[in-house]
Amino acid sequence: MQKLELDEIDRVATYLTKIPGIGFKSAKRYAIWLGEHKTETSRLTEALKSLIENVTTCRKCFNLTTSKDGLCEICKNPERDASTICVVQSIENLVEIEQSNVYNGLYFVLGGVISPLYNTEHIIKRIEYLKRRVKEEHIREVILVLSSTTEGDLTVHYIKETLKGSDVKISKVASGIPVGTDINYVDKRTLAEALRSRVYI
Ligand SMILES: [Zn+2]
Repeated sequence: MQKLELDEIDRVATYLTKIPGIGFKSAKRYAIWLGEHKTETSRLTEALKSLIENVTTCRKCFNLTTSKDGLCEICKNPERDASTICVVQSIENLVEIEQSNVYNGLYFVLGGVISPLYNTEHIIKRIEYLKRRVKEEHIREVILVLSSTTEGDLTVHYIKETLKGSDVKISKVASGIPVGTDINYVDKRTLAEALRSRVYI
């Protein structure tokens, strides 16, 4: 009797569910497609290998980079305004702001927001690192682009407290992003507008 469940498919599907937004049902559909399309799957494997070998996280802002010195193109660009840091939740948010062409400073990717429900120690550590950057690089303004959620607000508060005593202005995006919105779902134009109309806190 032919086996209907293939371990190979399930194993790939299980890995795919690690990607945010992919449930097991979709993951299984993708895994089956990959099983059916060997040429595409081989190319994907090559692309993934290259990604693993060449892509690293920028040691200053946590953006992705292929640069051997560990600094991304934005951090290395002398034409950027090196006195301003925009704090974003994710690399996707950084990309969106870059595409909107309204910002010319540097970035800092937090990798999420502080939550009382989960272990967010890694974010606390990044905020400590942000504090060091503000001091060492003589940053004049930190712009916070975080979700307008309870956890986003908590993070804003925490960053403000951490940077207290540093000679830096702190602003956050105000209008345009409805309360309770996850920043990851805000469109480009709204984000650009929100950035322009930021308020100092
Ligand atoms: Zn960088």
